[in-house]
Amino acid sequence: HPRLEGKVIIVTGAGSGIGKATTELFQQHGATVIAADLTGADHRADAGNEEDIVRLVSMAREQHGALHGFFANAGISGGLASIFEQTVEDWQEILRVNLIGPFLAIKHAAPVIKEQGAGSIICTASVAGLRSGAGGPAYSASKAGVISLVKTAAQQLAGSNVRVNAICPGLIETGMTEFVYERARAKGQEDRLGHLNPLRRGGVPREIAQAALFLASDESSYVNGHALVVDGGLSSS
Ligand code: NAD
Repeated sequence: HPRLEGKVIIVTGAGSGIGKATTELFQQHGATVIAADLTGADHRADAGNEEDIVRLVSMAREQHGALHGFFANAGISGGLASIFEQTVEDWQEILRVNLIGPFLAIKHAAPVIKEQGAGSIICTASVAGLRSGAGGPAYSASKAGVISLVKTAAQQLAGSNVRVNAICPGLIETGMTEFVYERARAKGQEDRLGHLNPLRRGGVPREIAQAALFLASDESSYVNGHALVVDGGLSSS
């Protein structure tokens, strides 16, 4: 049965990978999705730009009469360059998209979600925010920041019935991780990627979409301020 019937949800980074798979799954479950990305989605929006986020939230209210959810998912990795190779500009851009983006989503969506009673904001963090070695320095710091942000947001929205959670994906096969797969393939070590976790394989975008579906739906009505790890057991070791 449809689990998001009648809900209006904004998704950023909806043009590919996890955002695209989640948009499709949300739609299959009856949601109206405002799909936003720099390229490849219905609405062009920069997730780290305040005006663009305000515009998406206004669109939900004006064209659909409500907003029930926001999946702040857009992100950039910046590769695996070390602290000594990254520049201030690298850090500013990665933090702008990955951390200020979710901040803007919460700041502007929560008051509107609150107007119609209840809803769910989900931010894509990463296992890189929990442990070293899974991403570059700015990326990992930005994702640790997202995990902190959802906890603070859940506290500051106390009494509102707006829940805020994060998802921490492990290795998922998308455009962002193509270079990891390509590098492993070039070395003839593709099978070794699976040894990163007990399930012995990388994940696919739909497996993160399923977690987002749970957090967006009323089935997670008592889950709040939580970082849900979806990594095949990678961070359990
Ligand atoms: P992806 O590259 O396929 O998708 C990211 C999307 O975000 C792209 O469509 C891109 O155009 C968009 N985007 C980038 N900057 C943007 C901006 N400023 N405004 C709007 N859109 C922007 O990669 P993905 O793996 O689907 O990434 C989605 C999220 O998942 C990211 O936050 C990423 O950090 C996170 N994540 C991915 C993995 C993984 O292994 N793939 C693991 C952990 C976390």
